[in-house]
Amino acid sequence: MCSYDTVSPGKNIKPIVKSNGKITSSGDTVLGADNKASVATILALVDKISKREIKNRHAVEICFTVQEEVSPSGASQLNFDFFDGKVCIIFDEGDSLINSVVTRAAYIDEFEVEFFGKSSHASLPKDGVNALLMANEFINNLKVGVPYKESTLNFGLIFGGTAINTIPNYIKVSGDFRSNFFETQEKIREDFKNAKEKVLQKFPNGDVKINDIIYCKGYEISKNSKNLVRLEKIYKSCGFESLVQIESQGGSDASSFMEHGIEGFCLGDGSFRNHSVEEWTTIENLEKLLEISEKIVIGF
Ligand SMILES: [Zn+2]
Repeated sequence: MCSYDTVSPGKNIKPIVKSNGKITSSGDTVLGADNKASVATILALVDKISKREIKNRHAVEICFTVQEEVSPSGASQLNFDFFDGKVCIIFDEGDSLINSVVTRAAYIDEFEVEFFGKSSHASLPKDGVNALLMANEFINNLKVGVPYKESTLNFGLIFGGTAINTIPNYIKVSGDFRSNFFETQEKIREDFKNAKEKVLQKFPNGDVKINDIIYCKGYEISKNSKNLVRLEKIYKSCGFESLVQIESQGGSDASSFMEHGIEGFCLGDGSFRNHSVEEWTTIENLEKLLEISEKIVIGF
């Protein structure tokens, strides 16, 4: 399965195929290989299946999702009863070796924190409650960046204020935090609650509202997973020395499948510099993905 939405800027993409086989955008958009490299792979695979070019294959279910790049992810809305299969293959790990598999994926929470203060004229700060100072206090009570080992916390958007000469009565900050372990994720959730308490102690006339949305649940694939062993065999038969197991701090649709009892393998997609106008892949990588896919539908 794969998702077919892309990040911005992603309109009027003009892919350029260079003589060395490298594929890029024309420089003003993303390429969209994340995750259309997989869309192309699946379509090419279906083409081969329909032409009966793949012998002795297993039954295959194909699924395209939307909203993988935004939360909540489209895959979480799927009707999982629809699937008979117990294994899901997703080529969606960019910026890594093509022969890599995510065996531990992060828990990701997206949050919005609103600070409600009170406006007053800039010359009368005592009459107001400055929502920006509340936000500042909140952020200072958290460890932004790398709060704990194997976790991150970022504030990506800041919104607020009404005029240059007015104490802001409302500020909204939003961002995300990610951890490879559930316990660490819980710790950060707790830190948010404590930071809120600190703000309310310092600004008793203000208010703070935290809106925490679980973007995706992390997961771990057992080293003894039979399907992992099968996959590694398949990669070896495609000329790779091994299937490299990696930890990922990014989200993928594999999380939704794991949550519903379908073992989701998020594999290298051969694309690099995802989410930037420098995104690229190669013809060789796309051909490799097709070769791997063919062997997967036979080998599982
Ligand atoms: Zn992406």
